[in-house]
Amino acid sequence: MNLEAFFTLHSDLPREGPGSDASTLKAINRLPGLPESPHVLDLGCGPGRQTLVLARTLKAPVVAIDVHQPFLDQLTNAAAKAGLADYVKTRRISMDALDYPPESIDLIWSEGAVYIIGVSKALRLWRPMLRTGGLLAFTEATWLIDNPPAEAAAFWEKEYPDINTVAGNSRKAEAEDYEVIDTFTLPAEDWWAEYYAPLQERITALRSGSADWPELAAVIDETEQEINMFARFGDSHGYVFYVLGKPAHSTLER
Ligand code: SAH
Repeated sequence: MNLEAFFTLHSDLPREGPGSDASTLKAINRLPGLPESPHVLDLGCGPGRQTLVLARTLKAPVVAIDVHQPFLDQLTNAAAKAGLADYVKTRRISMDALDYPPESIDLIWSEGAVYIIGVSKALRLWRPMLRTGGLLAFTEATWLIDNPPAEAAAFWEKEYPDINTVAGNSRKAEAEDYEVIDTFTLPAEDWWAEYYAPLQERITALRSGSADWPELAAVIDETEQEINMFARFGDSHGYVFYVLGKPAHSTLER
């Protein structure tokens, strides 16, 4: 994937994955409880719609982490406009190179970004930073049915072979010594309103310019294929919110 072409398409979008303020809020409301002044990280924050909801709702500082500086700048501007500048701090560091001390974080959030390093690796890497009783909430592309149509299965096998069912991801979480507190599927509207519809608008605007830029044409083709897969097979795969806890006592016999 040509990164310049990718970011030409993926800039100035409200979100960089399926989601909505309502779903972020719903997941926040499923958290069993947080301490008075929680330490919160938002990993792979992108333009940071969810960061703003977290900061506003929890009334706590959120450290928003991403590797793409323009997304962090977009979030900083949005936070200032929303009157949340004091609550949103951005950091450019990779989610697999975090340097927080053990047991120092109360809540790790990550919408549409865990796939970058994969569920098991993310859960393993991040667990030590979480305090005992701490929480981890993330969204992840998930099979909603056990036997998906062959065409959808072939597409995901190529794009993201790690895609799993809710039961499969829950087993992964338990294997990494987390407890599954809650899961829910994001409504289909969360794919369209703030993600695919704005993406489609950008595709329309950029298509003529892609005639002499083959890498951009390729990114546009791939994106259209992905949108088309969701339009046709959105009953088979969706985005699922997973709310996990780091239990006080190990549930594993190591
Ligand atoms: N949470 C946002 C963005 C999801 S897209 C939303 O839901 O809108 C995934 C994000 O992960 C992108 O912003 C991308 O820049 C970021 N990312 C990619 N690799 C990363 C890494 N190694 N560490 C941290 N963030 C990363």
